[in-house]
Amino acid sequence: MKESSTATDRLSLHGRCAIVTGGSGGIGRAVVQNLAEAGAKVCSVDLPSTKSPQGALIHLTADLSQEPSVEAIVQEVGEALGHPSLLVHCAGITRDGVLWKLSAEDWSEVLRVNLDAAFFLLKHLTPTFRQQSRSSAVLLSSINGERGKFGQSNYAASKAGLIGLAKTAARELGGFGTRVNVIAPGMVRTQMTKNLPLEIQERATEETVLGRIASPLDIADAALFLCSDLSAQITGQVLRVDGGQLIT
Ligand code: NAD
Repeated sequence: MKESSTATDRLSLHGRCAIVTGGSGGIGRAVVQNLAEAGAKVCSVDLPSTKSPQGALIHLTADLSQEPSVEAIVQEVGEALGHPSLLVHCAGITRDGVLWKLSAEDWSEVLRVNLDAAFFLLKHLTPTFRQQSRSSAVLLSSINGERGKFGQSNYAASKAGLIGLAKTAARELGGFGTRVNVIAPGMVRTQMTKNLPLEIQERATEETVLGRIASPLDIADAALFLCSDLSAQITGQVLRVDGGQLIT
């Protein structure tokens, strides 16, 4: 990107192809819309039976915790939209429970969807990312991956794992011009959190210093920044978007 470019040029994703996982979810939908508005050709990926979010050029369905499905998705996107140079990994699940009651299945399922899928995506996108000069991957972690959370040992471990994965991928892919960063939201108002007890939602609001928990758009704006050339010199970083819920 030339020094003479404008901020608007650097924000533009015109001509870029993006994969957004969990594209039908609360945060994913906002990310799809934001990247599309910035000019990207967006492929949304989510579980079978999900609907295409607004702004997606195509919507593919797959269980991303399975490596062959991820490999097939990457190939299909390349054929349909051109080589992707952007990834925002929003797919994620919770299976909460105190660790002494947590089943091995609930432990593994969360690790598979939240962490294994990210590894498979980065692995199979690396060849196409390497062919392009300025690819960017953004993984959705959580402040609970940094601070831990009662009842979320599986989720917190998966989200902490994403940070280690992203920092390593940033080191391994940096030489090809590919950036890898993490967004760590605090609580966000989505399907994932709307059934939590009111008391927990209120406590999260009290923890913020800005007096409100995030909207999906707050997270999507950070994702757009990290995908765009406005963040061209930022890689291997964790960007908290949490209204100050966790300040260290
Ligand atoms: P959501 O439940 O609304 O969306 C998650 C999406 O992932 C869903 O559309 C779901 O179908 C999809 N998904 C689940 N398993 C999948 C699989 N195996 N393959 C493909 N897709 C799958 O949740 P959200 O609130 O939009 O969360 C998005 C991301 O942000 C998640 O990684 C979540 O952990 C993270 N996050 C959310 C919050 C919050 O408070 N909502 C806070 C911190 C981090």
